[in-house]
Amino acid sequence: MEAHNVFVRVTLRNGAYGFGEMAPFPDISGEDQAGCLRVFPLAARECLGQSVTHFRKLAQQLREVARQTPAVRCGLETALLDALCRGMGIPLWGLWGGADVRRQETDVTLPIGPLDQIVGTAQAWFAKGFRVFKMKVGLEVDEDIRRMEAVCAACPDTKLVLDANQGFLVEQASECIRAIERLHLPVMLFEQPIAREDVEGFVALRRKGTIPLAADESVRSVEDARRLIERNAVDVLNLKITKSGVVESMDIAGLARASGLGLMIGGMVESRVAMGCSWSLVLGLGGFQFLDLDMPLLLSGDPIQGGYQYEGPVLHPWEESGLGMEMRDEPSSVIVVG
Ligand SMILES: [Mg+2]
Repeated sequence: MEAHNVFVRVTLRNGAYGFGEMAPFPDISGEDQAGCLRVFPLAARECLGQSVTHFRKLAQQLREVARQTPAVRCGLETALLDALCRGMGIPLWGLWGGADVRRQETDVTLPIGPLDQIVGTAQAWFAKGFRVFKMKVGLEVDEDIRRMEAVCAACPDTKLVLDANQGFLVEQASECIRAIERLHLPVMLFEQPIAREDVEGFVALRRKGTIPLAADESVRSVEDARRLIERNAVDVLNLKITKSGVVESMDIAGLARASGLGLMIGGMVESRVAMGCSWSLVLGLGGFQFLDLDMPLLLSGDPIQGGYQYEGPVLHPWEESGLGMEMRDEPSSVIVVG
């Protein structure tokens, strides 16, 4: 599988520069690289001549211009914030308040696939120290349960986060949850078992089962979050800057915490640029219980120099200004706005 992402570089009047990343994921958001490149000049022009210290106002304007392309908002916001912090000489997480600056472990994703292959993959990650597997489920309940049992048997003392990516009907999800409870499988969280718009389905599942539920596709905006909170539909919200932008993700996090919901943070297929910005929210805002920041580990290459580092499942905080990163490679093509 190939990711077709776009890197953004912003230069401020004082010479400070910053990087961002657009990581459109057609299957989830309907965005693609061509669409992002079409909207990008429009969105970038919106920022020209304005002060980056007004980044909340800029984010609001970008939301209007790039409503259907949150990856564009994410890329531009990240680059502006990186530049702002480089100019100030503080790491990006410092701008958010440095609430929880320590190393933390991420889960690692296990795709749906043949049982032997998935167990082998799980064992390889287990040997590198990973203890939380995010298992993709949602095709066949029986198969999913068999894979969970096999992974847990092969990798003792691991915990599971399930993600069905909307794959189940309510009845199937319910059957899956009953089986997990019956077999005492170590499932910490069940992410997006059902369709994104089915808020009442979440309510029903939550009433019947004991496994905490998370919304991912169901929460792309503050309005989505409010709807889920009002209906008491989920236990945890999974934030992604690529689906909501940076500032709106922070607003969703604030809403979740004020309402007593748990926080998860994840990403699309992205490098350490977008993921570094997500990691900054964990370090700066605090209160995240579930980290799904493994994607750069699954890429065949790393286009970035510097920045935060991985050590097995552990993400390390960084001390350099902004995201603390430089681009390693020359871009394959360049669009200049300004
Ligand atoms: Mg998900």
